[in-house]
Amino acid sequence: MAGIFGKIFVGIYVEIKRSDGRIHQAMVTSLHEDNESVTVEWIENGDTKGKEIDLESIFALNPDVAPDDEIPQSPEAPLPPSSVAKTSKVPKVGSPDLDYPGFCSSAAAVGTTRARPSQHSQAAEPPPPAIAPQPAPKETLIQQQNARRKSNCVKEVEKLQEKREKRRLQQQELREKRAQEVDVNLPNYEIMCMIRDFRASLDYRPLTTNDLIEEHRICVCVRARPLNKKELTAKDLDVITIPSKDVVMVHEPKQKVDLTRYLENQTFRFDYAFDENSTNEMVYRFTAQPLVETIFERGMATCFAYGQTGSGKTHTMGGDFSGKNQDCSKGIYALSARDVFLMLKKPNYKKLDLQVFATFFEIYSGKVFDLLNRKAKLRVLEDGKQQVQVVGLQEREVKCTEDVLKLIEMGNSCRTSGQTSANAHSSRSHAVFQIILRRRGKMHGKFSLIDLAGNERGADTSSADRQTRLEGAEINKSLLALKECIRALGRNKPHTPFRASKLTQVLRDSFIGENSRTCMIATISPGMASCENTLNTLRYANRVKELAVDPAAVLESRQGGHINQLEVLEAQWGVGSSPQRDDLKLLCEQNEEEVSPQLFTFHEAVSQLVEMEEQVLEDHRVVFQESIRWLEDEKVLLEMTEEVDYDVESYATQLEQILDQKIDILTELRDKVKSFRCTLQEEEQASKQITPKRPRAL
Ligand code: ADP
Ligand code: MG
Repeated sequence: MAGIFGKIFVGIYVEIKRSDGRIHQAMVTSLHEDNESVTVEWIENGDTKGKEIDLESIFALNPDVAPDDEIPQSPEAPLPPSSVAKTSKVPKVGSPDLDYPGFCSSAAAVGTTRARPSQHSQAAEPPPPAIAPQPAPKETLIQQQNARRKSNCVKEVEKLQEKREKRRLQQQELREKRAQEVDVNLPNYEIMCMIRDFRASLDYRPLTTNDLIEEHRICVCVRARPLNKKELTAKDLDVITIPSKDVVMVHEPKQKVDLTRYLENQTFRFDYAFDENSTNEMVYRFTAQPLVETIFERGMATCFAYGQTGSGKTHTMGGDFSGKNQDCSKGIYALSARDVFLMLKKPNYKKLDLQVFATFFEIYSGKVFDLLNRKAKLRVLEDGKQQVQVVGLQEREVKCTEDVLKLIEMGNSCRTSGQTSANAHSSRSHAVFQIILRRRGKMHGKFSLIDLAGNERGADTSSADRQTRLEGAEINKSLLALKECIRALGRNKPHTPFRASKLTQVLRDSFIGENSRTCMIATISPGMASCENTLNTLRYANRVKELAVDPAAVLESRQGGHINQLEVLEAQWGVGSSPQRDDLKLLCEQNEEEVSPQLFTFHEAVSQLVEMEEQVLEDHRVVFQESIRWLEDEKVLLEMTEEVDYDVESYATQLEQILDQKIDILTELRDKVKSFRCTLQEEEQASKQITPKRPRAL
């Protein structure tokens, strides 16, 4: 866009004057139409620094980039059309004379809700060469030329100043008008300004590829996506700020009793924080990539995308969407596969003669479906040695990245087929993609990459619709169990409540053992409308890691007196313990803040329901098979009676036998169905009990 910016555009270099008088070159990184300024950045001592400078100052130092209408004789250019300022995430300055060095210490931002501009002294830095032209004293012609040039320059600056005044006034009017418009259209204009001002006080130092990739057994990070079209249309505000490589801030709008609004800025720290400009490659580099080596070293690795529906889990794991098509090659699944094949070629690993296999399945409402085999429903069995097996799961051998991409595409289309939208189903199911290394058939290492169900679904436990409730319960339980399993991994705890959910049960082997590593990518939507879910996501992610690094805090938070309550509830159920129930109990004890006794009761009811459903279905199948056999027997029996001299007694005996058998078996099935129906009612009752103390979304 020309107009007020003349020949300035993002990416060009201009001369700038620093607060200490130095003049040097800097790159224009953004243009701000609303206050007629540009942001420039430059590198100094390895740090990226930035500054916002008004256009007049730029034009004064760089007349060659001034708009044509700025040269004295041309008429004045029209003002730019009114638009709401895009809040820039590049450092802004309150006073134009202040330079903003790069974010020097991320610690400075944590613990305070308002970061100070860092106090870098620039006195010790060698100043870039000054470029003010010096006239050669003895050469008159040159002197004259210089003088002329200089006087032209002065004239130009004076004209500019005049225009600047004029434009200031016009701008002022425009701003007032705009503020009125904005007030009508943007109820959050005030909040937007507060966030903008807050950001202006920050130094930014985002993660770069130069940052160190640290070795973590448990790595927890956060990724914020940009505002999407829908949010922009709805004029949603971006309430997330990621000022440094490991800090994320949420600006939560609040209201005082006197109705004045204010921002509550909450700060979280993770191993890494990826802002809206991060690519999948970048996220991969710090999260899953370091885990690839683990599986070559006979280890188990897991990588989870956790967050609200629409926050970017599938985008991160499965790949970029361009329109409706997903580019699988850009997702963490494919990037991991690519590196597995690269690693395979290394001499150390080449000699191991490893074979690579892949599986892709989903867990929906506690049931496992094979995405590489037309969504066949699979059973999960645990043998005497606690080895968990997904019976019949297809493991496809893959020889190259392309093979893997084909499988991912196949699985994805199978996953979402018949769905109105990709998110309709995926928000309620966990997708698990695994890369398995085998040596002469024996498992060498396994990398499980999981696109989790939308965490907001875990709060659906009091929905009026049973299916939704059961799905919600399973999601709630599985995300709690996942958190505990990861914590336990960090603390080498012997007992992990992995049986409390299908997800953790299936991934059990990845949570145990010395050589297991995991990574969680918490994805967040930046919009103000998602604020509550975003905070829930960040709190959850925080607990996963916080407890892993600070075991004392765990003990403290767990010293409550709720275990008795749970025991009472267990007594009410009056049933002996089962491994699943024990784990569920343990899980609820570990999460008593989120799991009210009512929710625990509900989870118990759901577990019982799910177990019973499986039994009823299995028994029904047996009865069905038997019925066919009875029919055949009865047919033979009836045929026998057509004979003239058939044995009536034998007929009667046999018929009675068949009927007795039928009655026994059918009565048994009927009783089971009856108690199953009772459990369905109990579950419904239990779900209603949760309503008064509705759990937070996980
Ligand atoms: P989820 O799997 O968490 O429900 P998706 O991955 O489907 O969410 O993302 C929701 C939408 O946001 C998609 O249209 C996706 O393309 C877009 N999106 C997500 N993350 C990003 C990102 N980092 N950059 C750009 N667009 C993104
Ligand atoms: Mg998804």
